[in-house]
Amino acid sequence: MSDCLFCAIAAGDIPATIVKRTDSVVVFADINAQAPVHVLAIPVAHYDTIADLVQADPRLTAELLAVATQAADELGLDEGYRVVFNTGKNGGQTVGHVHAHVLGGRHMGWPPG
Ligand code: 5GP
Ligand code: ZN
Repeated sequence: MSDCLFCAIAAGDIPATIVKRTDSVVVFADINAQAPVHVLAIPVAHYDTIADLVQADPRLTAELLAVATQAADELGLDEGYRVVFNTGKNGGQTVGHVHAHVLGGRHMGWPPG
């Protein structure tokens, strides 16, 4: 999608701190970290939401989760972390390209702020 921020990050057209990349998934640092470690895992292919992605491509959904959790391990989150998909308006999704937030490095309270 030509005007999508995260498509542009995946393509390298907008800079980001990339922490892991496969052919189909990119993991990069969130620009406004909410925890000591806060990265976003995205498919290179554009899907609006996790609901769209899982319906269209279950295999890519699994790879997204696999790469996100591998990144968490590589980032040293051995005491645990949170994976969140904000989805749609009421879910607080502000960027319309599906992304998994991986948050860790401190105890994650509940409910989230
Ligand atoms: P959402 O609110 O859609 O669940 O999450 C979007 C996330 O993208 C937010 O945590 C926000 O800080 C992050 N973000 C927004 N713009 C940029 C950007 O240009 N670069 C990076 N690295 N993260 C961004
Ligand atoms: Zn996109």
